[in-house]
Amino acid sequence: MSDFIDTFWQMRLEKCKTALEKNNFDAFVAGTCSEAQKIFVEHILPTLHIKTASWGDSMTMYTTGVFDVIRQNSEIEIIETFAPDVPREEIIERRRQALLVDLFFTGSNAVTESGQLVNLDMVGNRVGAITFGPKHVIIFAGRNKIVADVETAMQRIKSYAAPANAIRHTGWKTPCMKTSYCMDCNSPDRICNTWTITEKSFPKGRVKVLLINEDLGL
Ligand code: SF4
Repeated sequence: MSDFIDTFWQMRLEKCKTALEKNNFDAFVAGTCSEAQKIFVEHILPTLHIKTASWGDSMTMYTTGVFDVIRQNSEIEIIETFAPDVPREEIIERRRQALLVDLFFTGSNAVTESGQLVNLDMVGNRVGAITFGPKHVIIFAGRNKIVADVETAMQRIKSYAAPANAIRHTGWKTPCMKTSYCMDCNSPDRICNTWTITEKSFPKGRVKVLLINEDLGL
């Protein structure tokens, strides 16, 4: 990536960080995924004193490798909510339990320049955890998630992130998987069920946002 593009986004991300902090989120800016992991390990994790952790589906979070770091810590119990060989009923029960962990990792479908998180969920375990339950939440978001406002965020999610996310999964049958366009479907596999707009972190600092100067996730 050209240096001037990175510089452009660095300025945007710093502005977004300031807006997030005004909304009571803790916010950080990392140049790369490996730097994001370093910030998490050296500056965030030591302040949290966690015993349990889990996560909501996020390509960006996976790319940072932070969960691999947590897995290597034998003092932290992990609730595995995406194990492919575990029956669906057990996965749902684990996702319920994951709402009570000390630390929950996930991503955000969009982050507005005025410091709001906008998300659209299928099951609701991700937006549920962002809203209430886990003591601490860490959101990882690439620069491609930064948008001007809530309206643009919702438009981005319905026109791009949701259909692309449906296509990412195999075995579902939604119309967008065949056309790439949202048809506002009634499919049993519909992934667009619950919107959340997180205007501010409550309590202050409960939700931490790590912005990364790379294009990541959907
Ligand atoms: S509402 Fe249905 S068609 Fe539209 S993006 Fe969601 S799953 Fe796809």
